[in-house]
Amino acid sequence: YTRRVRAAQRGDEFGDLASAFNRMAADLEAVDTHRKELVANVSHELRTPIAALRAVLENVVDGVSDADPETMRVALKQTQRLGRLVDQLLDLSRLDNGVVPLHARRFEVWPYLAGILKEAGMAKGAESHSGAHTRKDVHLNLDVSPPELTAHADAERLHQVVANLIDNAVKHSPAHGRVTVRARRGDGPGSLELEVLDEGPGIPEADWHRVFERFNRGGLSPDGSVDGRRRPGPVSDGGTGLGLAIARWAVDLHGGRIGVAESSRGCRIKVSLPGPVPEPKPGTP
Ligand code: ADP
Repeated sequence: YTRRVRAAQRGDEFGDLASAFNRMAADLEAVDTHRKELVANVSHELRTPIAALRAVLENVVDGVSDADPETMRVALKQTQRLGRLVDQLLDLSRLDNGVVPLHARRFEVWPYLAGILKEAGMAKGAESHSGAHTRKDVHLNLDVSPPELTAHADAERLHQVVANLIDNAVKHSPAHGRVTVRARRGDGPGSLELEVLDEGPGIPEADWHRVFERFNRGGLSPDGSVDGRRRPGPVSDGGTGLGLAIARWAVDLHGGRIGVAESSRGCRIKVSLPGPVPEPKPGTP
């Protein structure tokens, strides 16, 4: 790289050519990095609905449940979600280039979050089924007040955020741990405060900001150890460090905020969404 820059500093035609070459090489590098990131994003994001779908189908094949319309509806819903996720992940590839549209609408918070928790419960069961994790004993709770609370947001993008946070909370929960999704009215009119709490080891304060950066796992190596030492509590391997980066990007699109909050026990991630949706703006996870 140094050699390239030196050649470009020459004030003649060769220098101009070298500068152009440097720019082209840098562009190609950026494209390549972006492509690799997208592949990693896709694998990370597709795991949860695939796990849920697999659980439903395996239960039917093993005779644990019947292929009744209700079970098939669940499978269909996961398939639809997979399709939507692929679309969303492709959005990520457009991030560097332009504006990502936000399809905000008003919806009731309680049934919306209950649906996400139900899916998370099924994915959790599927992980246990595959033998990778045994977390069927993690309790998922929903706390919405007032019960008729409504939100104005892009339901699909917010789904991505909440599902990611629940997935993390379950991953880091101890046996019999409790994961709570809490929703309240925010300060401004139509604003919403969401929290996902767990009883795991939490995130060290020094990592509160960097865990929202792409590929940052807060000192957690792929095998779930911290600086060579194993973290207390069950930690999933195979994480990519993209979940929170994608969550932050989706929250940014809403003009909202996401962060780790003080907690006496475990991890507490707070999401604040303003009521009126601002103009869509470009952003990068
Ligand atoms: P991944 O889970 O794939 O590593 P994320 O972006 O979802 O990626 O999370 C980044 C890092 O933040 C994780 O590697 C972990 O160190 C930390 N983290 C996220 N959620 C929790 C949680 N609920 N409890 C403890 N640590 C967490």
